[in-house]
Amino acid sequence: MQKTMCLCGNEAQLHYKDEIGRIKESIVTIKNVPIFHCPDCEDGYMTGPNCLRFAEQVRKAVELGVNELEFQEDEGFDQIAFNKYLIKLQKHLLMICL
Ligand SMILES: [Zn+2]
Repeated sequence: MQKTMCLCGNEAQLHYKDEIGRIKESIVTIKNVPIFHCPDCEDGYMTGPNCLRFAEQVRKAVELGVNELEFQEDEGFDQIAFNKYLIKLQKHLLMICL
């Protein structure tokens, strides 16, 4: 299982969860998003590139007019290099990160 360091210093573990994203009044669910969860402070984190991907999927879902979409990881992306950039999730309701 993939792990990373939480901001509190403890280990956060990789889980796949459905996350909600929003563009203005459109709310969509993205399924199986890779989230690092810290059991200690109960916080969820997404890596920078995954957050970008997530934002793309949300935009795509809104464009397609669907309210659910499967998260797609970019296979070619060098994720390890970016794993340090963790973005904290706000109560599982994500705003567009960038
Ligand atoms: Zn923590």
